[in-house]
Amino acid sequence: MLTAFNACLFCGRYVLQVPGWTTLLKSYRMLRASWVPDEAFLEGAFHHSCLRASPHRHAFREDALLMLTQGDHDIEAEVDGKVLRHRRPGMAFTEPVYSGPSGALFRHVNTDDWVFVEKSGPWHFLSAAEVRTLTADGVLRKSVETGPTRLPRDPGESVGDWSLPTLLDFLEVRDLYQEVLDRLDPEYTFYEYSALPPKFFLDYSVECVQPLPVDLVEFLGGYTYRSRSLDWEEDGV
Ligand SMILES: [Zn+2]
Repeated sequence: MLTAFNACLFCGRYVLQVPGWTTLLKSYRMLRASWVPDEAFLEGAFHHSCLRASPHRHAFREDALLMLTQGDHDIEAEVDGKVLRHRRPGMAFTEPVYSGPSGALFRHVNTDDWVFVEKSGPWHFLSAAEVRTLTADGVLRKSVETGPTRLPRDPGESVGDWSLPTLLDFLEVRDLYQEVLDRLDPEYTFYEYSALPPKFFLDYSVECVQPLPVDLVEFLGGYTYRSRSLDWEEDGV
């Protein structure tokens, strides 16, 4: 059995967290599960490619944009025909910076952080250091530390010697990650394997090139980064 945290919300197959390629969505984000009969909010992981191909991507993106680009706000969510009001904590990326063919870039209301929201749904967070890297180099590598992740079955002790393609074959999802292997130069690191039958945990990290849209990278190539603290100094705050 897969748990909700490693079965893709859209295809149901295993989600191995890879930065820029997958997202783990927490329930406290309160993204509405408008197409799921018994759930008010989405919780779990998904492959970005599955969201992009989903008939629900427009509903998903519309709600994600509200959550990402507003402060706290009221929403209504329907479960079993009952409409309930909720106060949703918005992430407050309120300042539009760029809009292009593949999506839109927003800056946080008071920190040096950005989010790029693709037209087809997935989003990418960028720190000030990451924006500077993209401005200078046009390429950004990122890694993710997820902590131990639960595997669907026992891989055996040899999992410590496996490459990323071997792990993906074991998880039966290599097709969903083939582009990561071919284009994003992934660096996979094994940390630890713990067998606690019937639970099996893998601790690992993957660093790879971020699959950011060409138009965003071109925009950031000419972007002049200004720290928020400079704005505050000028405002006399
Ligand atoms: Zn999927």
